[in-house]
Amino acid sequence: MVTLDKSKELFDKAKTLLPGGVSSPVRAIKPYPFYTESANGSHITDVDGNEYIDYCLAYGPKILGHANPVIKQAIIDQLDKGWLYGTPTQLEVTLAEKIASLYPSIDMLRFISTGTEATMSALRAARGFTRKNKFIKIEGGFHGAHDAVLVKAGSGATTHGEPDSLGIPADFTKNTLQVPYNDIEAMTEVIESNQDDMAAVIMEPVLGNIGPILPQGDYLKEVRKVTEENDVVLIFDEVITGFRLAMGGAQEYFGVTPDMTTLGKIVGGGLPIGVFGGKREIIDMISPSGPVYQAGTFSGSPASVAAGIATLGVLEKEKVHEKLAATGDMMRSNLSDIISDKGLDYNVGGIGSMFKVFFGDMPLNYQDVLKCDKEGYLQFFHNMLDSGVFLPPSQFETNFLSIAHTEVDIEKTLDAYAANLK
Ligand SMILES: *Cc1c(COP(=O)(O)O)cnc(C)c1O
Repeated sequence: MVTLDKSKELFDKAKTLLPGGVSSPVRAIKPYPFYTESANGSHITDVDGNEYIDYCLAYGPKILGHANPVIKQAIIDQLDKGWLYGTPTQLEVTLAEKIASLYPSIDMLRFISTGTEATMSALRAARGFTRKNKFIKIEGGFHGAHDAVLVKAGSGATTHGEPDSLGIPADFTKNTLQVPYNDIEAMTEVIESNQDDMAAVIMEPVLGNIGPILPQGDYLKEVRKVTEENDVVLIFDEVITGFRLAMGGAQEYFGVTPDMTTLGKIVGGGLPIGVFGGKREIIDMISPSGPVYQAGTFSGSPASVAAGIATLGVLEKEKVHEKLAATGDMMRSNLSDIISDKGLDYNVGGIGSMFKVFFGDMPLNYQDVLKCDKEGYLQFFHNMLDSGVFLPPSQFETNFLSIAHTEVDIEKTLDAYAANLK
């Protein structure tokens, strides 16, 4: 049993200063979160001196593990030269060229500071380009915390978006239409019945924020076909899957090329970043080339871009995706064995370096995953923490592998699953 005395003390104080005691809601683990002192490789250490094997990895960015020496040096080298100029840099040209060479959907791109900004700006560009207003998002798909995408998953196939938060006028989400994942009929129907005003479809190619939940059969190809036939801009939100499933993201992995792509998380090597890119004629709409306004003081932040360039270098040089896919396969098959040995009706989902035990049937969409035993999962999460394994604190968050996880880590982790799954 780990003790969290100092963390508890900090959290009690934090609750008087920060809403919910945290800087982002998912961190408010009940009854209180552990406070991190430091992290290295696959391990994260809290202020009470407890050490955990980390599968949360900052919710995705740390594919090379914590404090990777190559990335650290790249950041230090940049800090020596200053870290914010308000002018263009060679770094952004280098990283843009690299990204464009890896993502066939990206002819041009803009750097910003977060994934939230990426999807917000991508939607604005798609709407500006098509001069249409409506867009489709997938139920349970997460695209950050801006107004237009922050809508409750509806019950019907064509539910008009109800704001998921106070402070968002219903007018701001009335053009956000939702359809279930893996349901091409529902998407086709909504596109066809709103054709006059349908600008875009935005989707995570693999649902990463309630899963991982995978596309079934030719779903992504069918999405590509119906959007193309109806002149609807297809945006893949690859903030998680970009540089995680493959260098070229889910679009490379599944061989489906969208019109626009958003990136974040891994591409900043652990520093804040966002990217949106796409076909030249769409991205050329962005100011100052075109009439779609977009700007940011920290956009293309030199330290983030330097960390990103270094990260992509390590990913390629060390064949990280190949290695992590093998570890992921091994993990998933061992977890499945543990579950069937125990006669539990749980399921192991995932792909590449993403995995998750679902406390219920294998979900294919948002409504499915809601049926999983999320209270049971939360108890399990705490038991795993006691066993020295830090999983994301929810049934609805993906577990990630990094290149820093060792065989010993994996063995310990599987032992902890075996001891705690029930
Ligand atoms: C994390 C995430 C975002 C938001 O990125 P931030 O950098 O947290 O703003 C957007 N889309 C997806 C798919 C994400 O996973």
